[in-house]
Amino acid sequence: MAKAIVVIVGGGVGGILTANLLAKHSKQIQVQLIDATGTHQYQPGWLRVPFGDYRPESLRYPIRRLLHPSVELITEPAKHIDTDARHVVLQSGKQVPYDYLVIGTGAYPHPEEIEGLAQGAHTFYTEEGALRLNQALQQFRGGRIVVGVAGFPYKCPPAPHEFTLLLDDWLLARNLRQQTELTFVTPINRLFPIETVAPVFENAFKERNICVETFFNTESVNSEKRVIASLEGTELEYDLLIMIAPHRGAEVVSASGLGDRGGWVPTDKQTLQVKGHENLYALGDATDLPVSKSGAAAHFEAEVVAQRLVEAVEGRTPQHLYDGHVMCMIETGGNKAMLINFDYQHPPRTPKPSHALKIAKGLFRRAYPLAVLKAPLTAGVGFFVRPGEA
Ligand SMILES: Cc1cc2nc3c(=O)[nH]c(=O)nc-3n(C[C@H](O)[C@H](O)[C@H](O)COP(=O)(O)OP(=O)(O)OC[C@H]3O[C@@H](n4cnc5c(N)ncnc54)[C@H](O)[C@@H]3O)c2cc1C
Repeated sequence: MAKAIVVIVGGGVGGILTANLLAKHSKQIQVQLIDATGTHQYQPGWLRVPFGDYRPESLRYPIRRLLHPSVELITEPAKHIDTDARHVVLQSGKQVPYDYLVIGTGAYPHPEEIEGLAQGAHTFYTEEGALRLNQALQQFRGGRIVVGVAGFPYKCPPAPHEFTLLLDDWLLARNLRQQTELTFVTPINRLFPIETVAPVFENAFKERNICVETFFNTESVNSEKRVIASLEGTELEYDLLIMIAPHRGAEVVSASGLGDRGGWVPTDKQTLQVKGHENLYALGDATDLPVSKSGAAAHFEAEVVAQRLVEAVEGRTPQHLYDGHVMCMIETGGNKAMLINFDYQHPPRTPKPSHALKIAKGLFRRAYPLAVLKAPLTAGVGFFVRPGEA
């Protein structure tokens, strides 16, 4: 019997895990993974590159080494997805046919969408940006630092808050905190979008004397005058500006007519099928799902997509559904971290930072390539404590 061909576009957390789970759990599926670069990046590590804690090279993994041997890796950007002809067109023009397709192409910052942002603001949301910010911090001798969010949605919602608290620690350790004014800006009405988690950050920011500007929708940055201005009419002067730019989905999604205005793939929140396409799935940051764009969500979604594909190929009606599960270990500075765990039905409980969780976060980073992406520990989402049960 001919095997069903599953093509996965994107070698991120979601794509790699789906490929490995399919390869392990079905002999009736031939898996091909297309990735633009052939290198997987552990993006959470970029948070600490500006502080010199990680070298970017240590966060890069050749995708081939992370994949089950039976998965075929195609290292080339996908240019177009033709859902009528059921093939992916690569940049070279080569066509890759599929029976089922999984889109896991990620989310990308677009600083050019806000006047002056690309010229005036640093970022730690790209490898190059995190390295450049490391150099800028080495030269910083005190002054006004503005950190913030310039547009929703963006991946890893707590990362800018974690960065700010780590920055406060870093400035303190270098005796620069007293001569530094630290301000955080966000377009929304509170410091953090999730109501039960916001107070933890609010207290930490207050204790550390970090100013917060809510309702700050960044309109423009004047890098000559070093001023960031909001649509609401507030202007802030800075010496160092670190912003999270508005994000968009990957170019191939829009080029294939599969994206909404932001380039996000309209995705069923439970089945993870692309709306209107029974044999197309989407996961991770590429989707328009109402969950945090995070590696954790991509991980749990990959388990569901793989299970559904195995069921479909074996002639059963796919039963597994995604429940919105996200789990995140968040740095809170002072050598502590906190855990949030939630799904569509259960908002996170107000978390408590601890040293133990900080150690756990470090261990997770070490275990990531083998235990997470290679999937030996993936015994279904029940491996983790379920939201609402902790
Ligand atoms: C600073 C920072 C800190 C973070 N911290 C955390 C954290 O603590 N916890 C957490 O859960 N998440 C965290 N995240 C978010 C997490 O890294 C992402 O949500 C996660 O990587 C999303 O996985 P993905 O598989 O959807 O996409 P990605 O991992 O972004 O992978 C997308 C892949 O698609 C490929 N691709 C794109 N276009 C094409 C194309 N045309 N053809 C072929 N391939 C293509 C890319 O090469 C890439 O390999 C953080 C992110 C950042 C930036």
